[in-house]
Amino acid sequence: MAASTHLNGATTTTSPLATPTQKSVFFFDIDNCLYPKSYKIHDRMSLLIDKYFQENLSVTPEEATKLHQRYYKDYGLAIEGLVRHHKVDPMEYNEKVDDALPLDEIIKPNPKLRKLIQDIDREQVKLWLFTNAYKTHGERVVKLLGIEHLFEGMTYCDYAAETNLLCKPRPEMYAKAMRDAGVEDVERCYFVDDSGLNAKAAKAFGWKAAHLVEPMSQGPEAPVADFQIADLEELRTVFAELFKPS
Ligand SMILES: [Mg+2]
Repeated sequence: MAASTHLNGATTTTSPLATPTQKSVFFFDIDNCLYPKSYKIHDRMSLLIDKYFQENLSVTPEEATKLHQRYYKDYGLAIEGLVRHHKVDPMEYNEKVDDALPLDEIIKPNPKLRKLIQDIDREQVKLWLFTNAYKTHGERVVKLLGIEHLFEGMTYCDYAAETNLLCKPRPEMYAKAMRDAGVEDVERCYFVDDSGLNAKAAKAFGWKAAHLVEPMSQGPEAPVADFQIADLEELRTVFAELFKPS
């Protein structure tokens, strides 16, 4: 899988521009989207985040939880608050939180998901991962699911960048994903994410967006994207034009 190029001005690497594509691009969120919320990976992550806050900011457990929740709400990512307000090193955070998760005990290959993705017409559609995690975590998840070979690349939150972290739902992040994937026309961009904020922002950016709301989770009062789905299998219907004729 090709790594994302670093085009947000935050790094000085000379990553080549993506080869322009005439295909449509289907962007997939990873966490709580390619695997179900019932795996409770987010809960485990929350525990590690609270622990990290306590150990690095010398705060009480109560304060740690409060800060974590506030940064998550304000920035969509706890790490962004840590970097902005506490000068925390995001790479160290990534190592102690995301990379410390025992994912191999939780995530197993998913043949049904693999079949769904294989049924997308890759002659017409470029498949691209689009996550707010760092690349090490994203790569680990898709590898454990047994689908890493099906994607042509990944746009991730670059924790190694020196400036403010760029992540969904900021419009610049969607623009970055398009540059990474080599697509110029928003009309050719498709997206699925379990985050209402991210799905809404994608739609506002001109993408065709599906918001995944599993039956166990509470959905928004009114749909925030073009489609609200309860299961990824519904992509076959709502984005039927992306699939091989059956
Ligand atoms: Mg997600």
